Amino acid sequence: MLVLHDLGELDHHDTGEWHPERPERLEAVRRGLADALGPGDDDIVRVEPRAATHDEIVRVHSSRYVWSLERFAEEGGGELDPDTPVSAGSWDTARLAAGGGLAVVDELARRGSGVGFVAVRPPGHHARPGIGMGFCLLNNVAVAAAALAEAGEKVLIVDWDVHHGNGTQDIFWDDPRVLYVSMHQAPMYPGTGRIGETGGAAAPGTTINFPLPEGATGESYRRAIDEVVADASAAFGTTWVLISAGYDAHRDDPLAGHALAAGDYAELATRVAALAPGDGRVAVFLEGGYDLAALRRSVAATVGRLTGTYESDEGPTHGGPGDETIGAARVFRERLADRG
Ligand SMILES: [Zn+2]
Repeated sequence: MLVLHDLGELDHHDTGEWHPERPERLEAVRRGLADALGPGDDDIVRVEPRAATHDEIVRVHSSRYVWSLERFAEEGGGELDPDTPVSAGSWDTARLAAGGGLAVVDELARRGSGVGFVAVRPPGHHARPGIGMGFCLLNNVAVAAAALAEAGEKVLIVDWDVHHGNGTQDIFWDDPRVLYVSMHQAPMYPGTGRIGETGGAAAPGTTINFPLPEGATGESYRRAIDEVVADASAAFGTTWVLISAGYDAHRDDPLAGHALAAGDYAELATRVAALAPGDGRVAVFLEGGYDLAALRRSVAATVGRLTGTYESDEGPTHGGPGDETIGAARVFRERLADRG
C-alpha cells in the first residue's frame, strides 16, 4: 500500500524555460507511479496535502530566512543564487512540499502500515538552515525528520541523490536524534560530503558520507548500505527511515556521471526499507532526477519494489570504481567504535 499526497498544486514554482528542475518532472513521476501501481487507485491511500506551518519549518530553518523567502516570493521573486530561481508561486509550493512530507508521515504513523512517497518539488536536500541553494528552497525531508525526532523517534535519512545533501547534513550535524547517510559523486557540486565529515561534537558518528568517483555503479551504493550503513543503523537504534531519493545518479541523467540503472533503485529501496523496525515507517522523498524517462523508470522501480506490484526490467548494475571509498568509510566507523 502506497501513501501518497495529492500532486496537484506543486507546479506553481516556476523555474523558467531552461531550468532542469521543471514542473514536467512531476508528470514523469505520475507516469512512473502508474507504471508501478496500474491505472486504478486500489493500492494508493491519498492524503490531503497541507502547507507546513511556520513552527514546523523553523525547526530546521532560521526564522529570518523563512520570512525573507516569503517576502521575496511575494514581491515576484528573482534568483536566490544562479541555480535557484524563486517565482511568485514558489513560497506556497515550497510550503506544500514540506507539508506534503508531514502529511504522508502522519498518515503512515496513524495506519501503522504502508510505504510513503513524497513526490514534491522543489527538492530540498541542499537547503541549509539559513539559506536555500541548488534548486532547493525548504528542506522537505529535514522538516519531516525534525517532526519525528521531536516526537521521540530516531530517524535514519538515506540520501541516494547523486549530489551531497549539504543542507540536511548541516541541519542535523550536531543532532544525535538523526543519522544522516549520503552516497554521492565527488568531486561534484556542492563540494561537501567528504569521508571525514562524521558529525559534530554532540553527535559523533551520526553523519556518514560516501563520496564516490565518477563512473560508480549501483554496486557501490549497495555495498555502502550492506557493509557500513546496516550496522550503523542498528547501533543508532533507527525507528524511522526517510529516503532522500534523487534519481540523478542514473546513467542517463544529464547533470552527473554515476552509472546506476532503474533496477538499482529497487535494490536500494529493499535494503534501506529493511532498516526500519516495523511497518509504516518508511517514506521516500523525491529530490533530483532530470532525465524524464529515467526518472519515470526509476520511480516505478522504487515504488514497485516497495509495494510488491512491479519489477523493473532495467536490471541493477555491477562493477565500476568506489572500492576505496567504501573501505575508507568502514575504517572511519571502526575508529569511532574504538573511541566510543
Ligand atoms: Zn541531485
